[in-house]
Order: sequence, then structure tokens, then C-alpha cells
Amino acid sequence: MKVKIPQQTRSGRTVYDVVMNLTLHWDEGLQGCCNHRLKRIEIDPLSPFVDETFVHEKLEQINLSYALEMEHALISKLAFAFAEFLWHDLGIEFDWSNIKEEL
Ligand SMILES: [Zn+2]
Repeated sequence: MKVKIPQQTRSGRTVYDVVMNLTLHWDEGLQGCCNHRLKRIEIDPLSPFVDETFVHEKLEQINLSYALEMEHALISKLAFAFAEFLWHDLGIEFDWSNIKEEL
């Protein structure tokens, strides 16, 4: 089942834009960014891990908005585990057609 990634994503009282950002370079270790200051989830569209990165950055948003105080390594592990659940158990595929690309 394909699920369209929304242009905005809410967590508690925070609403973040979701954008593809070509200034992020996954091959230099920056696949995505949860920019709390600008309230944006940014992802390198050239990364081979776009879907996993989105789940990770979404968890970063949740982590802050619900004051969960999860360590970054825990967020990463949880993101992979939750992504696996989405893809394999629920059969969900992300559709990125609504998301804009920015320089
Ligand atoms: Zn992170």
C-alpha cells in the first residue's frame, strides 16, 4: 500500500514542513536533518535511505515535542525497527510525489 508523505507533519503542538534538501549530502554522513529551529524535516533526495531517514527525522520531532529525551543512537535503532514494521508487516511504501525539492 502506497502512503503519500505529507508536506507537513504534526507531533503534539509542533508542525514541521517536510522537504527534500539537496544541500544535505548522505555520502558525507548527512542524510537528513530535523531542523527544530526552522521546524522542518529535511532529507537528501539522493540518499538510498530516504524512507528510513524520514522515519528517523520524524522520531526526532516526536522526541523533542514529547520531551522523551531519547539518546540519538536509540532514535536510530528505533527508526530502523519501526521502518521494518511499516515495510514488512504492514506492506507500506512511501510515495514522495507531494514533497518539494529545495537547493
Ligand atoms: Zn538524527
